[in-house]
Amino acid sequence: MARTKQDILQELKDHQVRFLRLQFTDILGINKVVELPVNQFEKALDGEIMFDGSSIEGFGRTEVEESDMLLKPDYNTFIIYPKELEPTTKGAVARLICDIAYPDGKPFEGDPRQVLKRQIERSQKKGYDNLYVGSEVEFFLFNRSPEGSPTTHTYDRAGYFDLAPTDKGEEARRDMVDMLVRLGLQLEAAHHEGAPGQHEIDLKYTNALQAADHLTTLKFVVKRVAINHGLHATFMPKPIAGINGSGLHFHLSLFKNGENAFYEPKGRLEVWPHQLSKTALQFIAGLFEHAEGMAAITNPLVNSYKRLTPGYEAPTSVAWSVSHRSAMIRVPKRRGAGTRAEFRFPDPSCNPYLALAVILAAGLEGLESNLTPPPPIERDVYELSVRDRRKYRVSEMPGTLREALEALQKDRVVRNALGEQVYKDFLNAKRVEWDSYRIAVHRWELDQYLAEY
Ligand code: GLU
Ligand code: MG
Ligand code: MG
Repeated sequence: MARTKQDILQELKDHQVRFLRLQFTDILGINKVVELPVNQFEKALDGEIMFDGSSIEGFGRTEVEESDMLLKPDYNTFIIYPKELEPTTKGAVARLICDIAYPDGKPFEGDPRQVLKRQIERSQKKGYDNLYVGSEVEFFLFNRSPEGSPTTHTYDRAGYFDLAPTDKGEEARRDMVDMLVRLGLQLEAAHHEGAPGQHEIDLKYTNALQAADHLTTLKFVVKRVAINHGLHATFMPKPIAGINGSGLHFHLSLFKNGENAFYEPKGRLEVWPHQLSKTALQFIAGLFEHAEGMAAITNPLVNSYKRLTPGYEAPTSVAWSVSHRSAMIRVPKRRGAGTRAEFRFPDPSCNPYLALAVILAAGLEGLESNLTPPPPIERDVYELSVRDRRKYRVSEMPGTLREALEALQKDRVVRNALGEQVYKDFLNAKRVEWDSYRIAVHRWELDQYLAEY
């Protein structure tokens, strides 16, 4: 049952909460909070807390004097953090995730959470219950230097799914899982990933808005628990060249009248299209059509494109497969209510609200335009001949952030889903980022050229 304002006030009192954090994300996906003391709790719950958006990426409007925004809490996101999460903070801390509104109460178009809500509404107008999303989040746990700054070193030697003799990373991950469960998140699994120091936590599928909310919670908890263990957690997609990077795989399905609309019980599993419904195929075709245009949102860093290279289990090609990890979409064998497409491109540096919004928009576009995907490929996509690439309509993902930004500019569907405000602010911020990378002189250049020329 949904919580009321009175319920929350009572819980805050019963648990002697001293600080209430109102949380939201900027367009780059960074968690932001406004922290309030007890005398402001009621005002916070009434959605009357104002903050100055001018210094927040994507929230600054042209007139500096006009950047005040209201925080409208979503009561469903109320959490009281157990003491162990922040042992040094005095008194209990609670949080609420908020939508952003103008001072007159009108929703703010630049708020990523509302960008996602708009696409969910669009899917509901078409008769779907929701987009359901299960997330596999990969990240690295690194040591900190004696002064506390992050390094890229790990003493961990365990590999994929290994039952390693417990090391610091394993212990930390166990505490992360434990904490997430206590906060009410449902987990599918957690395990060591392919590279040293790399871990994965899998969140059980839920509706798209809650999935995005949960990802923001997970990022906070993982980083926080890592600190408590003297470690640094990073969601940077490719922290170390030459070994696997970190992905954020989304398991996607649309539901209609409580049933999985991706499942076609009349089909045969062995025969193409493998008991996938027309809806599933159209949705997948929409992801194909807009993969390149979405890339800047789902893979938003200069570094993201260093993960999307052959040989590290990350996809590089716009192709799909029932089994192969080199493809952008994999369809796990599960059927019935568990029928889903695993979208493997995104990485955990994305803003989850914006990423799921453009994914849903692309999929819905596939339904509306009645698109059909090419046949799936059951071979290693990394090794296809030129002829086969044509047959399966395989194209390449953008190779750099710059190419991704160019593709974004050309993609009307993705731009419309973001809305003009977010689109413009995002593009500007990312152009600045690309430029600062472009003019920097990197270690690689010195190693290659300094002695030789
Ligand atoms: N780490 C790989 C990636 O970058 C994925 C490995 C896996 O299949 O879980 O997406
Ligand atoms: Mg994985
Ligand atoms: Mg996966």
